[in-house]
Amino acid sequence: MDIIDGKAVAQKYKDEIADFVQKRVEAGLRAPSMVTILVGNDGGSIYYMSNQKKLCEKLGVKFRDIVLDENISEDELLEIINKLNQDEETDAIMLLVPLPKHINEKKITSFISYKKDIDGLTDINCGRFYKGEKSFIPCTPKSVLELIKSTGINISGKNTVVLGRSNIVGKPVAQLLLNENATVTICHSKTQNLKEICSKADILVAAIGRPGFVTADYIKEGAIVIDVGTTMIEGKVKGDVNFEEVSKKADYITPVPGGVGSLTTTMLIKNVCEASMGNVY
Ligand code: NAP
Repeated sequence: MDIIDGKAVAQKYKDEIADFVQKRVEAGLRAPSMVTILVGNDGGSIYYMSNQKKLCEKLGVKFRDIVLDENISEDELLEIINKLNQDEETDAIMLLVPLPKHINEKKITSFISYKKDIDGLTDINCGRFYKGEKSFIPCTPKSVLELIKSTGINISGKNTVVLGRSNIVGKPVAQLLLNENATVTICHSKTQNLKEICSKADILVAAIGRPGFVTADYIKEGAIVIDVGTTMIEGKVKGDVNFEEVSKKADYITPVPGGVGSLTTTMLIKNVCEASMGNVY
């Protein structure tokens, strides 16, 4: 059994990004730039924003944060995004969610220019993605695919099971696997014979937010197991997979922490670089 090292995969992309930025600057162009907007003081969002800032600084990507009072009106927030949409010095806009309850999240996210929407939140990016067209792909699903690919396995034709059908993880992971010509089954809380379905998977992706739910009897001998789950228990982050049991049966497995979560911010910054090149649009 091999542990898939999210940090090592991330390092490969960090090196590529740093190299890309350096070459751009040497060519007389400005460094790629992102703006992250935080409304209010959600702890998870603050943590994610500080990780983005640190990584951007390390890789030479320009980072600016806009921290807004939780009582800001929808119109004021729209005006800020409007200015950023038009600002030629801003390649990428990251709006942290959740937003305060009085703000219509769908209305605000849809207002971000699809050309700067590095987290793939807008309807245009989402629609293009599910039609199999070029688009910005959300960074958690993108990280899952990269980790599977890092094993060297040919995904085409493989029997894959995605546990979870959320818009931010389960569904886009399933779509990415489908794009790679895998045979994909999506399971959720109403799925019958869950264990039986999972135990036939060559590749199993768990994204349900139920710590330790996936035990050895869910696993096919030699499978690849990707654990997206992150639940805080007594100050420690726990995945959806019972690592100790499952690692004895799987050929490859991601740890929590040190797996998917180690790659997401890097994938986000990779999208900033793509936005700066106009690679997607
Ligand atoms: P979510 O929106 O709560 O969706 C959970 C999904 O799991 C739903 O589709 C739900 O089914 C399904 N589910 C729940 N209990 C189940 C069960 N007992 N059996 C089968 N399916 C079950 O969660 P999410 O936003 O997708 O996140 C999933 C996990 O990933 C969470 O732990 C989250 O913290 C983590 N996460 C990690 C990262 C990262 O970077 N590592 C990023 C994002 C999310 P129904 O649709 O039927 O309700």
